[in-house]
Amino acid sequence: MLLEREREELAAAGRRLAAGGLVIGTAGNLSVRAGDHVAVTPTGGVISELTAAMMTVIDLDGEVVDGELAPTSEVPMHLAIYRATGAGAIAHTHALASTAIACTLPEIPLVHYAMLSLGGELRVAPYATYGTDELAANVVAALAGRQAALMQNHGSIAIGATVAKSVENLELTEWSAELYARCLAVGAPRVLGQAEQEAVIMQALTGGYGTTKKL
Ligand code: 13P
Ligand code: ZN
Repeated sequence: MLLEREREELAAAGRRLAAGGLVIGTAGNLSVRAGDHVAVTPTGGVISELTAAMMTVIDLDGEVVDGELAPTSEVPMHLAIYRATGAGAIAHTHALASTAIACTLPEIPLVHYAMLSLGGELRVAPYATYGTDELAANVVAALAGRQAALMQNHGSIAIGATVAKSVENLELTEWSAELYARCLAVGAPRVLGQAEQEAVIMQALTGGYGTTKKL
């Protein structure tokens, strides 16, 4: 089986996303790139129940190289992102808070410094029908300089160097969306200014952030 390890990683990612409540049923798709090949989830597959054998391997032109099931309908979007970015993996679902924001607003402003690890405020890619080149182009544009984006009236998407990182970035995107929705419910959220953002980046660069350190 071609890309067996990568296919296993996609199956594990599907289970984790479902366990975290970020995916229900067949709503979403995942992929991982290995050189000129990309392993993707099958169209119509229940994300939490996918096995390595159910994944499909395609080349960068979208031709099926290995597998038994038709690939995700979002192959154009996944391939466009690999062409435009250095991403190693992509995770897309219809996670609830992200989708609620994407049905309502043009972006998630930078209300929390943790969003800086995704590149800053998160854009909402304009709506287009699922599976189309138009949606692919809109998502690529919304991802410029970012590790994640929302998709208008649709869902959210995140990229990463590895499958695990793309999942982590999708989780952080969902947390940001949930946070922003709650901020709006409470009142008028305060957004971090440019100098405050730069200070966080300096602090993280000099001290490290989110990693344990030996005494
Ligand atoms: P697939 O089942 O074809 O991957 O479609 C699900 C989806 O989320 C489309 O955007
Ligand atoms: Zn979708």
